[in-house]
Amino acid sequence: MKEVDLIVVGGTIVTMDAARTIIFNGALAIEGSKIVAMGTSAEITAAYKGRKLINAKGHYIFPGLINSHTHLFQTLLKGLAADTPLQTWIARLITPVVPLLSEEDCYYAAQLGILEAIRSGTTTLLDFMYLTCHPEFSEAVITAAQTTGIRLLFGRGVHDTGVNRGVPPQLIEDVDTVLTEVDYLRRQYELKSDGMIHIWLAPSVMWGMSYSGLRSLAAYATENKVPITMHLMETDYDIDLCQADYGKRPLEILAEMGMLANHFLLVHGVQAEESDLQLMDAYRVSWSHCMAANLYLGSGVAPITRASPATAVSLATDGAASNNSQNMIELLKLTALVHKGVYRNPGIINASRIIAMATCEGARAVGMEKQIGTLAPGYRADLFIVNPGLPTTTPVHDPLATLVYSCDQENIETVIINGKIVMHCRHLLTINEEEVVNKVQDIARRLRDKLNI
Ligand SMILES: [Zn+2]
Repeated sequence: MKEVDLIVVGGTIVTMDAARTIIFNGALAIEGSKIVAMGTSAEITAAYKGRKLINAKGHYIFPGLINSHTHLFQTLLKGLAADTPLQTWIARLITPVVPLLSEEDCYYAAQLGILEAIRSGTTTLLDFMYLTCHPEFSEAVITAAQTTGIRLLFGRGVHDTGVNRGVPPQLIEDVDTVLTEVDYLRRQYELKSDGMIHIWLAPSVMWGMSYSGLRSLAAYATENKVPITMHLMETDYDIDLCQADYGKRPLEILAEMGMLANHFLLVHGVQAEESDLQLMDAYRVSWSHCMAANLYLGSGVAPITRASPATAVSLATDGAASNNSQNMIELLKLTALVHKGVYRNPGIINASRIIAMATCEGARAVGMEKQIGTLAPGYRADLFIVNPGLPTTTPVHDPLATLVYSCDQENIETVIINGKIVMHCRHLLTINEEEVVNKVQDIARRLRDKLNI
C-alpha cells in the first residue's frame, strides 16, 4: 500500500473533465501539490494510505474556482462612489485614492480579498494590479497571496499615456521601466513559486496606452511567452476613441500590432459586436466575464453566449469597488440568471456551463487547462468541499444545480490549494481573519475621511 500526504474520501466528486464525469462515493489521493489517483473510495483506500485523511461523506467535491479578473487593492473601496457610471466612478474614486495608499494598505486589502475568495471556493485568482506608482505595492499583493496560499496570476498593470483622458498622472510610466520590473517579478517570484505565482502583462485600457507602448508589450510577450490581459469595450468609451483616432475598433488595432498573437485574455467586452467575436475566434482570444461589475456600473451584459467554442469564457468578480464582493459562488447564480432573463431563454446557459466557466473553461482562459480546473490524476490538487446539509441546499438532486442556484459561502467547508489545506470546516488556516478585518476597517475609515466622499 502506497503512502500519500492526503486522502479525501467518501465524497461525490464532480470532476469537470471532458466527459463531465461524476464519481459517487469517490476518493482522491494527493501527494505534494498534485492529485496522484482518483476513483471510488474502495479503489483508493485499497491502494493508498493517507498521512492525513479528510472524510467527505455526504459532501460534494468540486475543482477550485478560478476568478480571472480582480483588483485586490480595491477591497478597501467597497461601497464608495456607488451608483455612478464608469468614467465618473474612476474620476471620483479611483483617481483621488491612488496617492493615499501605502504598501501596508495594499497588503491587507489583498489579504481580505483573498479571504473572501477562499471562503467562496476560489483557488486561483488573477489580480490586475494597476496601482503601479510604487513597486512595493505589487510585492505586497504577491506576498499576501503567498502567505494565504492562493494561486495568483499577477497582472502587472501598465499605463504610458492618458492623463488628458483621466489616467492618474502617478500611474504613467515608460514601457522600458515596466518591462524591467516585469523581468524582476518573473525572476523573483514566478520562477521560484512552483506554479503558484504567474506574472502577466496588464495594459490597463486603450486610452492609457500609446501605440508604441502596446507594440513593445506585444513584442516582449511574444519573446518571453508572457500572457496579456486588458480591459476592453466595457463601455463605448474606448471604441469611440479608437474610431475617432484611427477609424478602427480596439480589437482590430490590437490584432494589427501583434498583441493577439499572444495568449490574450479580454476583460469585459460588454459592447462586443459580431466583428469582435470573429476576431476573438480567429485569434483564440479568451474572455473574462464580469457580470456583477458590469451590472453595478450599469455597463450592460456582455454577449458571451454568442462567442465561438474557440473562445474560452471565464468568470470574474472584478475589483470590490465595482462589485462590493469577491464571492464567486454568488457570481455563478447571478451570471446564469441575467443571461436567461436578458435573452428570455432559460436554456441559453445551464449550471454545468456556468461551473465550467469557473473551472475547466476558466482554466483554458488563463492558459492552465492542463494543470487546474479539472479533478484528475496529474492535475494540481486545487479543490473545495461543499456541505449540502444546510436548509437552503436541501434536498439535492443535481449537485451542479445545487452549487449554482442554492449554495452560499456557508456551504463551502474545506478548500485545498496546491495540495495544502487552507480552510478546514470553515476555519481559515493561513489567515488571521479577525486581525485582517479590523485592520481593513481602520484603513478604510482613514481613506474615507481623506477622500471626503
Ligand atoms: Zn477591472
